[in-house]
Amino acid sequence: MGRWGRAGLVLTVLGDDAIEAYFASRPGEYFEQSIPPSYIEPYNIEVVKTHIAAMVLERGLLDLRSLPPELREAVKAMEGEGLLRIVDSKVYGDFKRLRAYMESRGGLRSTGHLVRIYDESEEIGFRELPEALYDLHPGAVYYHAGRPYMSVELDLEAGKAVVRRITGEINFYTRPLYTVDVEAIKPLGERSFGPVKLVYGEVKVTVRVEGYVVKEEGSGVTLSDVLLRRPLTWSYWTKGVAGRYPNPGITDLTLAISSYHALEHVLITASKPVAGVADTDLGGVSYPSGHIVIYDSSPGGNGASRLVLERIESIARISEEIMASCTCEDGCPRCVFSPYCGNNNEMLSRRGALRVLRSVLLKAAAPLELGKPEGEPLA
Ligand SMILES: [Zn+2]
Ligand SMILES: [Zn+2]
Repeated sequence: MGRWGRAGLVLTVLGDDAIEAYFASRPGEYFEQSIPPSYIEPYNIEVVKTHIAAMVLERGLLDLRSLPPELREAVKAMEGEGLLRIVDSKVYGDFKRLRAYMESRGGLRSTGHLVRIYDESEEIGFRELPEALYDLHPGAVYYHAGRPYMSVELDLEAGKAVVRRITGEINFYTRPLYTVDVEAIKPLGERSFGPVKLVYGEVKVTVRVEGYVVKEEGSGVTLSDVLLRRPLTWSYWTKGVAGRYPNPGITDLTLAISSYHALEHVLITASKPVAGVADTDLGGVSYPSGHIVIYDSSPGGNGASRLVLERIESIARISEEIMASCTCEDGCPRCVFSPYCGNNNEMLSRRGALRVLRSVLLKAAAPLELGKPEGEPLA
């Protein structure tokens, strides 16, 4: 219905990525789909810590017994950081340190870990980690208030980035080259997905930005790639789903790696319509050993990967269709490419990923325990 009871016209303009290509050939499915569930991680420890700090500053004192168990865990973590003291069940704060702590966070809704952005000596804004790693590494083109800047320095220790304004028109943008390694998994739950045992839990993720590519605006053609003199590394705990996927008889190691990498990409892409996940809410990494970990991008977690665990069958069905219906040689932006790939969309095989996924769906592989990821990870 348009305005004033008149007829309205709605135009949906589709782009050229995997999900839009998927719906372009299935408009009925697009218009008849149910609204995806929303997701949230109410006990994100990083967010909870800020709330506890604010509560102690306001009330002066807390009774540990009055808090639900999930919040008590945050209080204990803060005691370990020297911000709070627990005597019997009373929680006392070091007010000076708590105030400094609050100041270092980006407000009550933030997961903290801020990088403040300076142009010369003037602070122009801030960016949260881990996004700051991808957007503000030296050499990155960064847009602030619609104006382009170039980052000249990112000091993670000091939580500071220095940028310089780019004057005039620019026709390029940058994308980070990075790897992700999952160093630890503390299981909270599991389920099977065909022969794959999926484990959901707390995961420790280490991001390492090693360089970046410069791409031409519009065409997306890579103009150059640059390695950082000093790679940037940052670790954090979040939540994620890990599984070890079978090898359906792919003997070439490069092809196997490319298959798992492509499958990781497409599973995240297909999570968008199934779980209502935004582009940047999930990250992923794959290993030559067949391990794929899909994790919440925010420190502490945001609930998205838990929905991936719950809805993996629907995600797999859409992933299979995306890959089976693409007519490209062996990987393109309409199937397995991702704008957030840490490897500039290299080492991807649509055909190989389809073989791996089908071996899972047809239960054509022996059950696989999770075990430990091995080999060089690809994000
Ligand atoms: Zn394709
Ligand atoms: Zn990738």
